[in-house]
Amino acid sequence: MPIEVVPVNSLRRHIEAIEGQLTDAANEVIRSGYFVLGPNVKAFEAEFAGYCGVEHCVSMANGTDALELSLRALGIREHDRVAVVANAAMYSTTAVTACGGEPVFIDVLADEATMDPAALAAALAAQPLKAVVVTHLYGRLAHIQDLVEQCRRAGVPVVEDCAQAHGAASVDGRKAGAFGDIGTFSFYPTKNLGALGDGGAVVCRDTALADRLRQLRQYGWSQKYTNALAGGRNSRLDEIQAGMLRCMLPLLDGWNERRRAVANRYSANIHNGRIALSAPAGQEYVGHLYVARTSERAALQSHLQQAGIQSEIHYPIPDHRQPCFGERFLATTLPVTETLCETVITLPCFPEITDEEVQRVIDACNQF
Ligand SMILES: *Cc1c(COP(=O)(O)O)cnc(C)c1O
Repeated sequence: MPIEVVPVNSLRRHIEAIEGQLTDAANEVIRSGYFVLGPNVKAFEAEFAGYCGVEHCVSMANGTDALELSLRALGIREHDRVAVVANAAMYSTTAVTACGGEPVFIDVLADEATMDPAALAAALAAQPLKAVVVTHLYGRLAHIQDLVEQCRRAGVPVVEDCAQAHGAASVDGRKAGAFGDIGTFSFYPTKNLGALGDGGAVVCRDTALADRLRQLRQYGWSQKYTNALAGGRNSRLDEIQAGMLRCMLPLLDGWNERRRAVANRYSANIHNGRIALSAPAGQEYVGHLYVARTSERAALQSHLQQAGIQSEIHYPIPDHRQPCFGERFLATTLPVTETLCETVITLPCFPEITDEEVQRVIDACNQF
């Protein structure tokens, strides 16, 4: 009999447990006749702002719009320099170039794969930056207090990309999105808080900034048919998706805890000199992805595949080497980022993975 494959993630299992609740919420929206910017969106925005510990939440159509409209709300325009990391699948870089801005790539820390505070300090000293985007990659809080502190001193606004880190918190309990000037989220189905389709949001404390973001997500309207703000578009969250997210938000902390427990079991029980792991983590990590490193990645992937275990690469090509840029960043080198792109490997980690499956992954890694 062929062995059952351990998947990297299973949305089918994830949704199965709450299917009844989701169906009821969807039916309520269908019967209400209110489908865009209605009561569910308003309620979800209030609930999610409260969850993040900030004043405002402005929901949007997806996480990429959330990033781009945040930069527009901060006034980023042609030729403005914006610092980003290059190991996070192009999302923030795309947002910068969409505004006509110039990405300034900052290298990352080898162990955590998040922005290196020393590298940011060097970039701030070398040139004027108009904004910094900090990505809380894999569900791990970056060294956000240090990074924000540096930017405050330089008068540079900070956008936190929290698309993989819903609920990640510092030791004093501050959540991802509550440190910088703006926090952006994606609710793509595979995220820690994921809708049944696309969705996104921005959180912030400043009321004027929230007003601008609300205008930008709806054509730049200050009121109906008055296009007050340039750079606007249609980027609204649907009532049905807001309804789905309202069912799921109360479950997020439990899901994150299970993800972290799985990740920490890997960190404590995989012992193999050829596989490097991050140390067991606390609430600063919400286990969006469990990413190990090995210089023998192809061999490990095929070993795992033979053991019936799926693995993935997050992410194989650094932003400055993406084909769309041609030779534009040929002179840019980011040693840590480039090494990580060649060595990272993602192991199965999701709330519904069974203890037996986790053990199979551990055994297979130890037998490599
Ligand atoms: C998923 C993701 C995004 C983009 O979100 P979409 O909703 O897919 O547009 C942005 N940043 C990071 C780090 C992500 O993981």
